[in-house]
Amino acid sequence: MDHRKIYVTQPALPPLAEFIPYLEQIWDSKTLTNNGPYHQQLEKALCQHLGVPFISLFCNGTIALMTALKALRIQGEVITTPYSFVCTSHSLLWNDLQPVFVDVDPVTLNLDPRRIEEAITPQTGAILPVHCYGLPANTTEIQRIADVYGLKVIYDAAHAFGVKQNGESILNAGDLSVLSLHATKVFNTFEGGAIVCKDAKTKQRIDYLKNFGFADEVTVMAPGINGKMSELNAAMGMLQLKYVDRAIEKRHRIQALYRELLANVPGIEHMAVPENVEWNGAYFPIFVNAHYPITRDALYARLQEHGVNGRRYFFPLISSMPMYRGLSSAAPRNLPNAHKAAEQVLCLPIYPDLPLEDVARICVIIDEASRG
Ligand SMILES: *Cc1c(COP(=O)(O)O)cnc(C)c1O
Repeated sequence: MDHRKIYVTQPALPPLAEFIPYLEQIWDSKTLTNNGPYHQQLEKALCQHLGVPFISLFCNGTIALMTALKALRIQGEVITTPYSFVCTSHSLLWNDLQPVFVDVDPVTLNLDPRRIEEAITPQTGAILPVHCYGLPANTTEIQRIADVYGLKVIYDAAHAFGVKQNGESILNAGDLSVLSLHATKVFNTFEGGAIVCKDAKTKQRIDYLKNFGFADEVTVMAPGINGKMSELNAAMGMLQLKYVDRAIEKRHRIQALYRELLANVPGIEHMAVPENVEWNGAYFPIFVNAHYPITRDALYARLQEHGVNGRRYFFPLISSMPMYRGLSSAAPRNLPNAHKAAEQVLCLPIYPDLPLEDVARICVIIDEASRG
């Protein structure tokens, strides 16, 4: 038995030597940020790679989310999911917007459209869904509701790099989609983020907003922020882009092996990928249900004893945190499916360099624990 620690995720990195020429370019040009050559190249390359019309790069996904809400001048209440990473809702508070939590579908763990419709009030300005684990939210129903009630839709697509539905990028759904290019994501620039939008004027406004609001030397159009991506990060993105398809391939091999080896373990379920979806293998969540002899938390601890770090993504729910739990929509009886998921889901290690032998070993631990 070896005692290497296995993490839930580890950033994919290209060979270091290949980054040196990019650094030399930056040193030569002396352009370090402010829409430099790599920044421009990466925006173009990502549009091509992802199949989206316009992209504006950011220093991280959180500032990109905050800016997306500002760009559309969202006001009032925003319907969102409690089953996400904290910054989905934090981006609302930073804009003085009121989060309204709606429960998730018990199978997809994405916002349940029927519950969205029930939560609409005259104050509702937008819907902020997440494509949880890179599996698409119900974009058709969400758009139908948004069209009927005149709401904007901004997707937190932090998990959804490269995901397609019916052959088209999921990032084209809604008014805006926000990517995270953080170290732990499928495609990383160390830190980074992006807003995907549909027309040049919207991109222009977003570009102003991420540069303090400067529209030209003397015109400041809004209280913008500093959300710019540096040349270092953009150069890393250009290099990472050469490897991202291979990285996603490896994620697929890992998730396929998990599915195979866990298929007959009683009390362990995993999420199906719909046939019309090309997924990116961003995470591998399992549900530890009542037929498993020990709880999710006990399994989490058991794995840790073997040096394997799972993550209870997402636990605790955003709606249970001190700055949100006072909201009436945060009441647990309003969010039964989200609470159940927060108690049952464990994300298993998945990253391109994870050896398949380790996947097999993790599955043996889970299988053995299932026999008490
Ligand atoms: C990672 C993540 C973000 C953004 O994270 P940054 O670290 O700011 O890039 C946003 N939403 C979700 C759901 C995430 O997982």
